[in-house]
Amino acid sequence: MANIPFPKIIRANRKTLSLQISSGGELIIKAPFFMPDMIIKHFVKQKEDWILKALKKFEGRGKVEKTYQEGEEFLFLGDVYKLHIGDFKEIDAKDGVLEFPEFMKFRIKKELTNWYIKHAKDMISERVEYMSKKMGTQYKKIRFSDTLSKWGSCFPDNSLQFNWRLIMTPITVINYVVVHELVHTKEKHHQDGFWRKVRLYTPAYKQYKKWLDQNKHLLNI
Ligand SMILES: [Zn+2]
Repeated sequence: MANIPFPKIIRANRKTLSLQISSGGELIIKAPFFMPDMIIKHFVKQKEDWILKALKKFEGRGKVEKTYQEGEEFLFLGDVYKLHIGDFKEIDAKDGVLEFPEFMKFRIKKELTNWYIKHAKDMISERVEYMSKKMGTQYKKIRFSDTLSKWGSCFPDNSLQFNWRLIMTPITVINYVVVHELVHTKEKHHQDGFWRKVRLYTPAYKQYKKWLDQNKHLLNI
């Protein structure tokens, strides 16, 4: 299941399987208590087309297209900056203003994207290193991606991947995603033991998860 996120399985006293996308874009399967995982996996496989279509629709929902007009709002580390195109040497975000050099205006989307990616790489790599030392975890290399449905991944070899769009979110949210993936270097699941460890380093993690669910449509460029 290449593009399908791992579903949340809710077991209940019921006879059939049901499939839904939550308001936060999470794939949820309701299943009878004693139904074997194999059958659930098979069911998901069969519904693959429906799931992909539904997720795609969800990602597009409420997405605000950028127009790159003077005064348009951009997010950086959770703060809002108003675009100001002017006589600047380089892109910079300060005092609520996103300064953008006039001479690069014709390729503004590309330049801004690169600027975000560069900061994401610096900031997230630094966070990973810092938190990894604090948590006593080992990781391999860090890669960066761009898929709206995934904020981070930890692969079986403990290499990590992060969505560069996280640079638009508050530092507390970035920290939560970093902690989440670093805990995965030791716990490759989302059971209670996993969340206990996440809570140890980000006690308010539920708040940051919610922030991502509620604001992901704003993290566009
Ligand atoms: Zn996870």
